[in-house]
Amino acid sequence: MSILGATGSIGESTLDLVEREPDRFAVEAVTAGSNAASLADIARRTGARLAVIADETKLDELKSLLAGTDCRAAAGEQALVEAASCADFVMAAIVGCAGLRPTMAAVEAGATVALANKEALVTAGALMTSAAIASGTTLLPVDSEHNAIFQCLAGNREEDVSRIILTASGGPFRTASAETIDNATPAEAIAHPNWSMGAKISVDSATLMNKGLELIEASYLFGLPSDRLDIVVHPQSVIHSMVEYIDGSVLAQLGSADMRIPIASALAWPQRMVTPAAKLDLASIGRLEFEEPDLERFPALALARQALEAGGAAAIVLNAANEIAVEQFLAGNIRFVDIAGCVRQALDEAEFDTPRSIGDVLEVDRVTRARTRAMMKASCA
Ligand code: NAD
Ligand code: MG
Repeated sequence: MSILGATGSIGESTLDLVEREPDRFAVEAVTAGSNAASLADIARRTGARLAVIADETKLDELKSLLAGTDCRAAAGEQALVEAASCADFVMAAIVGCAGLRPTMAAVEAGATVALANKEALVTAGALMTSAAIASGTTLLPVDSEHNAIFQCLAGNREEDVSRIILTASGGPFRTASAETIDNATPAEAIAHPNWSMGAKISVDSATLMNKGLELIEASYLFGLPSDRLDIVVHPQSVIHSMVEYIDGSVLAQLGSADMRIPIASALAWPQRMVTPAAKLDLASIGRLEFEEPDLERFPALALARQALEAGGAAAIVLNAANEIAVEQFLAGNIRFVDIAGCVRQALDEAEFDTPRSIGDVLEVDRVTRARTRAMMKASCA
């Protein structure tokens, strides 16, 4: 297997499982953005033969850290693509649209792809799902909601599905006033009540953009339009999502809020493997609650649905503007409320043709990032 984004939160959980069963998995390649020390440590531990760092300025450091091992060090996008194309099983866990080319390379190579990198699917969903059909790739969703849906669909006919119901925890500001939310700090925004995750997805969970991206992700993965994809807030994060069938049956997947469960489901598919995740104790949880999402306090969710329904390049624009806005929010340069504001403005101003290639997708991504940065500079001046 290859692990793309091995130094991240999903990468770490994947390695935890893989290292518990060394006879079951052989790690061929591992990648990271810029942390050479952590990547070299992972490469040594797993015996990987290729370690790729995206940041080319870190290549010399990586080479010297791997001196005396059988692991080759490489850097840059082409090397990431190589890491994605050299294994039968690829864990795609880079964050953001930066993961698109490597994830597509894994799909085109016909590997089984465990997909955590939701931004790749959000920006290039139609291209990626058709490439998967052409190469015979199996896409295994790792996002807990989509993994839950995938499990609830097993053994049923697609045409018998009436609706998919994504659950959302509601994030750290579920019960906060609009004023508190508008002025939330990065520290408050990344303090997720149920899940421990990377910084970007934690902020997305606080704005509910994460649920919006997941709506688009679900539409591509399961081939359903917006009006058959519902969202319900479920603060306990015990039910990870549900599928409703035409006879009125609703199937749900439950488990503790530990990403090692959906990751293990993908790693072992179509079998199962043991995980160290806590077993669900329903009596001690006591009650499961549900409520409607509040689109006024969390406008990002409505923007994402709007982008899904608009089609074309809208989801790429949504994602790119959001990536820049989250980065600027984490750097302390804009307010929490401005994240959705930036995304709305980017969507309002966008006029792109429907992308026909990954090159087209990356061009819309690049232009939108530049425009969003310029827009922020102008509004700060
Ligand atoms: P993270 O920030 O913890 O890790 C991201 C990984 O990508 C790191 O290895 C980092 O070095 C690498 N990376 C960052 N920028 C890069 C670049 N420009 N080029 C190449 N590599 C780069 O993120 P995470 O929380 O592990 O999330 C990874 C993906 O999984 C995201 O798309 C996220 O939405 C999705 N996801 C995460 C969780 C979770 O619990 N963490 C749950 C569901 C889905
Ligand atoms: Mg999720």
